[in-house]
Amino acid sequence: MHQLRVVNPATEETVATVAETTPEEVGRAVARAREAQRGWAALAPADRARLLRRFASAVDGRLEELALLEVREAGHPIGNARWEAGNVRDLLDYAAGGVERLTGQQIPVAGGVNLTFAEPLGVVAVIAPWNFPLPIAAWGTAPALAAGNAVLLKPAETTPLTALLLAEIALEAGLPEGLLQTLPGTGAVTGEALVDHPGVAKVVFTGSTAVGKRIMARCAEGVKRVTLELGGKSPNLVFADADLERAAASAPASFLDNTGQDCCARSRILVESSVYERFMELLEPAVHAFTAGDPADPETRMGPLISAAQRERVRSYVAEDAPAAIRATAPAGKGFWYPATVLEAAGAGAAAVDEVFGPVATVQPFGDEAEAVELANATRYGLSGSVWTRDAGRALRVSRAVAAGNLSVNSHASVRYATPFGGYKESGLGRELGPGALAAFTETKNVFIATDAG
Ligand code: NAD
Repeated sequence: MHQLRVVNPATEETVATVAETTPEEVGRAVARAREAQRGWAALAPADRARLLRRFASAVDGRLEELALLEVREAGHPIGNARWEAGNVRDLLDYAAGGVERLTGQQIPVAGGVNLTFAEPLGVVAVIAPWNFPLPIAAWGTAPALAAGNAVLLKPAETTPLTALLLAEIALEAGLPEGLLQTLPGTGAVTGEALVDHPGVAKVVFTGSTAVGKRIMARCAEGVKRVTLELGGKSPNLVFADADLERAAASAPASFLDNTGQDCCARSRILVESSVYERFMELLEPAVHAFTAGDPADPETRMGPLISAAQRERVRSYVAEDAPAAIRATAPAGKGFWYPATVLEAAGAGAAAVDEVFGPVATVQPFGDEAEAVELANATRYGLSGSVWTRDAGRALRVSRAVAAGNLSVNSHASVRYATPFGGYKESGLGRELGPGALAAFTETKNVFIATDAG
């Protein structure tokens, strides 16, 4: 049996070994999930909501344990990991609130009336990445459960521990056995077995665009429902009329949070030429102040990359002697460290185009609003972006013109459990979170009832 080795990326120590789920075990898990789902969907909505709220409060009771596990398996700074664990609790609470509001319509027609029903899909596979193992596991899981489905959760091979704990907490909170199962394993074995299994009705995938396309093609075979949350290469547009101090002070977090392993990272900084020099003067100390170090230390802003392979990937984008506009320092010795780096886009090659998924951004001047929008949209991705300006009209105009799912004005925040999240273009398909989250895990059934007497 293949064992997955979970490594602490800050120390390179082995944290745990976990057995990979074989395709036969996937088959058995689907059967158990189907069984559990029937009973779950038959519960009164208020009872389902109550159980989900119990799950949320059980997560709340073990927030610190979940956060510490995230620190150990993913190298996230503890402050970030606490937010992530809290996001799981909040999302479960929010989804629980939607259970009793999941209603249909009645549509009168000649000779009768139509009733629509939002029915659960059955068994949903949630395939999560390693960059935010905890919250992203919950983004698919919470609304899918709330809408009456069972969930088979496949975490990334490098970060299965928080997902395993989540399923354990669900059981302790009283969710039926088999309703939420975590199936650790690689994409090639466990992931593909799940995607191909005829008993899985929908696949929610978060990960790279390349794998997302492959999964979508395989889902086509069984006409399976699919939600894809994929890569990004998001712009940070800084106009001359912006509060430059705030824009520069917040820019480091926008591409260095999670060591740049963030689908929403604002990794293309675009600055109006007239303030370019001033902005760079402000940005440099802010990048240096974004200290990298021990993730367990509350003062740490940036942890290591997830793995040696990811560090190699980042290195392959940035030549050792590449002229950098800004290059900070990272700890030496054990751990997969990489320093915060800002490159001038003009000489950055593929790093200016591809999703590097490391603490690397490019910076580039623009002449006017039209050029800013053109540069922002010159990418195959469209996940998020930021617009810094004091002009309300421009803020809205530019936000509307940028082809991306999540724009922020004078802010870099992209994710809130109560608002829809997802990508344009090759950044994805469908939306998660927000008021429509539960509906994405239902089929609409229409029933016509004849009312004519004869
Ligand atoms: P990845 O595509 O390598 O893996 C993601 C998940 O898919 C893992 O669980 C993996 O085991 C599984 N997988 C891999 N191959 C598979 C296959 N053939 N069949 C089924 N499952 C398979 O991505 P990653 O490196 O873990 O994550 C980084 C990527 O995720 C980045 O591109 C990032 O932008 C993206 N991401 C997107 C969002 C979003 O919401 N849009 C959020 C986080 C991460």
